[in-house]
Amino acid sequence: MNIQSPRSVLSPNDLAAYWMPFTANRAFKQAPRMLAGAKDMHYFTTDGRKIIDAAAGMWCSNAGHCRAPITEAITKQAAEMDYAPPFQFGHPQAFELASRIAALAPKGLEQVFFCNSGSEAADTALKIALAYHATRGEAGCTRLIGRERGYHGVGFGGISVGGMVNNRRLFGALLNGTDHLPATYNHEHQAFSKGEPEWGAHLADELERLVVLHGKDTIAAVIVEPMAGSTGVLVAPKDYLKRLRAICDKHNILLIFDEVITGFGRLGYAFAAERYGVVPDMITFAKGVTNGAVPMGGVIVREDIHDTFMKGPEHIVELFHGYTYSAHPLACAAGLATLNIYRDEGLFERARQLEPLFADAVMGLRKEPNVTDIRTVGLTAGIDLAPKDGQGGLRGLTALACAFNDHDLMLRVAGDTLALTPPLIVSEAQIGEIIDKVAGVIRSVA
Ligand code: PMP
Repeated sequence: MNIQSPRSVLSPNDLAAYWMPFTANRAFKQAPRMLAGAKDMHYFTTDGRKIIDAAAGMWCSNAGHCRAPITEAITKQAAEMDYAPPFQFGHPQAFELASRIAALAPKGLEQVFFCNSGSEAADTALKIALAYHATRGEAGCTRLIGRERGYHGVGFGGISVGGMVNNRRLFGALLNGTDHLPATYNHEHQAFSKGEPEWGAHLADELERLVVLHGKDTIAAVIVEPMAGSTGVLVAPKDYLKRLRAICDKHNILLIFDEVITGFGRLGYAFAAERYGVVPDMITFAKGVTNGAVPMGGVIVREDIHDTFMKGPEHIVELFHGYTYSAHPLACAAGLATLNIYRDEGLFERARQLEPLFADAVMGLRKEPNVTDIRTVGLTAGIDLAPKDGQGGLRGLTALACAFNDHDLMLRVAGDTLALTPPLIVSEAQIGEIIDKVAGVIRSVA
């Protein structure tokens, strides 16, 4: 495919009105990176270049881009019923998708609440946790615990429990009553680990310290990513999540896994909860549920948490929460078609099988200049580069631009960490191609 968009030549004026999210707008508008098309493992630029996608868009397109069954399902749905109000009305695809998602989740997590993004999913899960304790008469149980270097989107709940200073510092006092576990990454003990680092399980015990600090029966929920993607591919240490589960059980604290990135195959399983053999009380998801084709997010909730809300008068709304676009028909259609592809092509198993080869290939980059650490898990890798001129993020951003402009490669970066998260359809040859290109990028920015 060679897409030369008629709109490809844009003047600075044409670029002026769009205030781009999480982007250095002024730098971008001087040297825009413009996408015009996508198919399977590739993007196509407005100037006709073919870019290999080592990022699954943004951790979304696990089945590759513009898959025909998804496109067809969305098109058909748009013609049949474009929109359906989700409050007090339903449509069959919403119920079917909820059942399909619940069937992929660990046993016991049977209820699905839909929203439109990972940020909304995080805020929804936190609100369900607070409402759950309040409904049970546990009025003091209101504190929410996140983790340093955690990312739970950009809603006020998400940034309050999140652990990224830039996402927090300009936004006032945030939510009352949050606190944070320490980050699990430690360079000295974990450098160049494949899969779960051996060191670090004991860091879960910090939750005990927070229980002592804030008092018993004050913590409503703990939210963590089994693998923190957006802050640099930080993998939960071996047994860390098990230990967290045990402490939560002991103190009546709900455990939420934010699986917005790890859900739908990224770590070789439908959910990371399965990989780690730990059943949380809620799982948030987004991104991969529709292969990125239509925005959708949601929360999978333990059956008895849901049941707690089902005890009042039948005509009363049980949970005063929801979105105009919850269970949007186009998202549901895309979600069902996506889950079919994951199942029919065995993509979660494929990720699991490719993991050792992928990990070895990425670890081969450790000899490249300025590489200070590499972490791999599932079909994901984080490659840390030494900061340039003491300025964090500069080398990372240079690498992103250089990859796109000079090596026809799409990467993600988190600070000076290059993140590789290819679609799960990536071939062995394409893994080799990506690694060669990444090596070229790392040398170029050395
Ligand atoms: N949670 C996690 C773990 C994420 O990685 C992200 C986004 N990368 C979000 C939440 C937020 O998702 P969204 O951008 O769809 O709001």
